[in-house]
Amino acid sequence: MAEATPAAPVVETEVGSYFVANYPPFSVWNREAVDRDALPALHTAPAAVPLGLYLHIPFCRKRCHFCYFRVYTQKNAQEVAEYLDLLVSEWEIYGHLPAIAGRPLGFVYFGGGTPSFLSTAQLEGLVERLAAVAPWSKAEEITFECEPGTLTEGKLSAIRRMGVTRLSLGVENFDTWETYGGAIGRGEIPLARAYRPSHEERMIRELVLQLKRGSIRPAYFKEKYEVDLRKRFEAQLSSLAADGYLGEANDDVVALSREGLLRVDVLLRRFFLPEHTGIRYT
Ligand code: SF4
Repeated sequence: MAEATPAAPVVETEVGSYFVANYPPFSVWNREAVDRDALPALHTAPAAVPLGLYLHIPFCRKRCHFCYFRVYTQKNAQEVAEYLDLLVSEWEIYGHLPAIAGRPLGFVYFGGGTPSFLSTAQLEGLVERLAAVAPWSKAEEITFECEPGTLTEGKLSAIRRMGVTRLSLGVENFDTWETYGGAIGRGEIPLARAYRPSHEERMIRELVLQLKRGSIRPAYFKEKYEVDLRKRFEAQLSSLAADGYLGEANDDVVALSREGLLRVDVLLRRFFLPEHTGIRYT
């Protein structure tokens, strides 16, 4: 007779209350690393990797109750236009730096908030000014997050003309309006926090991001990070199995069960280094 799958314990959590988008958690990024790591990196020659641009549009029609990102729902057209001017100015500052100057974009991501909150005229003006800094006509992927209630046929046509290859619904984060506008006004790069992860942290970051899809391949991590996942995370995998969240774990694959996948963001904390568990994520 087949053994019954252990029932997953009930843990109180709200949808979207804990969402892992990176590792280590953003709360350990800090001001010191901006001067020590981020700015020197921007002032060195380009790395041999594709260049991508993320653009944040922090406006929404209304606040969704499950969303914990900072978004603005009361900004008028003038304030939105001012923000778009700041966004272009920021990109122009980056565009003069050695790590970025003269490089075409490999991918572009319009995130938010709700990029489709912008009017067609705002979008077209924004794209024209941004593309003047760095062309993206050869970009492999251009993503645009939409909220269905803000879309019209005309706006969708404009989005298509921008070269968008992928529409998405998404949420991101944003610092305060005043801090951002003040920094751009002074001609400064508005970086408030940065972090240079260690080899092990990079390994964990990739592990948790891959595991969000439900499974990982130990051989991949062995080759890239020289780590035996099943040994390194023996305790974590055992705890997932005991709670009914592990589907399988062998030399080929480590996979979550359906229950595990449904609450994956909360479970990923088990793989964090001890100093990153139990702390604020954002
Ligand atoms: S970012 Fe998305 S989920 Fe958050 S309030 Fe705006 S539309 Fe809602």
